[in-house]
Amino acid sequence: MINTGEQVYLVRCGETALKGDNKSYFERMLVGKIKSALKDEKISSVDRVEGLILVRASLDTDSASVLKKVGRVFGVDSISPATEVCYEGMSATETINEIGSVASEMMKGLIENKGVKTFKIEAKRADKNFPVESPKIAREVGACVLKACKVLKVDVHEPEALIWVNVRRNYAYVYEEKIMAYGGLPLGTNGKGLVLLSGGIDSPVATFLMAHRGMNIEAVHFHSYPYTSERAFEKVKDLAKILTAYCGRIKMTSINLLPIQEAIVMNCPEEETTILVRRFMMNIAERIAKKDECQMLITGESLGQVASQTSDSLVVTDNAVSIPVMRPLIAMDKTQIIDIAREIGTFETSIQPFEDCCTVFLPKHPVTKPKLSKILESESKLDCETLIEAAIENAEVTVIRE
Ligand code: ATP
Ligand code: MG
Repeated sequence: MINTGEQVYLVRCGETALKGDNKSYFERMLVGKIKSALKDEKISSVDRVEGLILVRASLDTDSASVLKKVGRVFGVDSISPATEVCYEGMSATETINEIGSVASEMMKGLIENKGVKTFKIEAKRADKNFPVESPKIAREVGACVLKACKVLKVDVHEPEALIWVNVRRNYAYVYEEKIMAYGGLPLGTNGKGLVLLSGGIDSPVATFLMAHRGMNIEAVHFHSYPYTSERAFEKVKDLAKILTAYCGRIKMTSINLLPIQEAIVMNCPEEETTILVRRFMMNIAERIAKKDECQMLITGESLGQVASQTSDSLVVTDNAVSIPVMRPLIAMDKTQIIDIAREIGTFETSIQPFEDCCTVFLPKHPVTKPKLSKILESESKLDCETLIEAAIENAEVTVIRE
């Protein structure tokens, strides 16, 4: 035998598997992330085996929980719960019979639970030392299943159930499900970014997308307390908390923008308020990023979404900083952004109606085609440096953990 009596999960690594000379580094990172995601489960091992990651767990683990946790690890492409057959020291015929009986048990379950009537076996011989070729393995395992489940017929074109047999060195795996995960790259393989996190729909999605490409995340949030409430800040922390399931802990700096907003309202043209505030936000974020060794800023801006996100406005905003600004939603429609927000579980929190600092002092007719020279002229009426330094001095830091 045989059936090793453990629940096994085959974890496929999407792009990580393509990383050439760095493949081993990416795979090690991924194994580390999977281990820490499963730290509260009954896991006996997480190993790399020829292009796959194999998770072995005791049979009484909560499979749904394991799948959910591994499915959220960036770099994981898909997962299959599988039965493992150890065939070391067995003949090819014995091995195929054993695989056949595992496949038959699986099929019996599918007949009972899903009323399956047709099936197909797909075999892959990853270890060429195994003396039977893939098509023959599939035929022979299929014959075992037909013998055990009389109601079934083979349908190689449109089977209602497909069972995969993967024969590797000393072990074979039998599985019927391939659960798709997020793909991407393991967290921490692509530097660190500082996200400007609001309580809206967009910036949590932008955070998710950058973390999905392997970027560690820190956050900065701007508020206008007491114009914005404690509860509005709680909402942002709730969003950050949901995001930690994907990004791990998030260090969040919060900044009171109110003195800056008041200075702008008192000294600058009303229609420029929003764009001026946004330049201050970016400037402050850049300083925090540099202090905390974040290489770039991340925002949830989308081209043309509002006045401050027209192409002209984005040019003027970008001019306030010298580090790169990542805008992963730039070409997305709101409906696409909402779909992702729902998928990652931030949408319901984002739509709770709390005020944001950007809605305090919102001008009636904000400029949509700001001219940099004019904006700089308005800014020259303010003591920007003092305002910025004071805002940073009063910053508060919260660490949001999973
Ligand atoms: P939505 O558009 O869904 O209401 P949003 O957060 O995108 O939410 P916008 O006014 O479109 O709101 O802001 C554009 C971007 O600016 C945000 O995605 C976010 O990155 C940043 N931002 C806005 N308000 C804040 C804030 N209070 N704190 C930190 N960043 C903010
Ligand atoms: Mg937005």
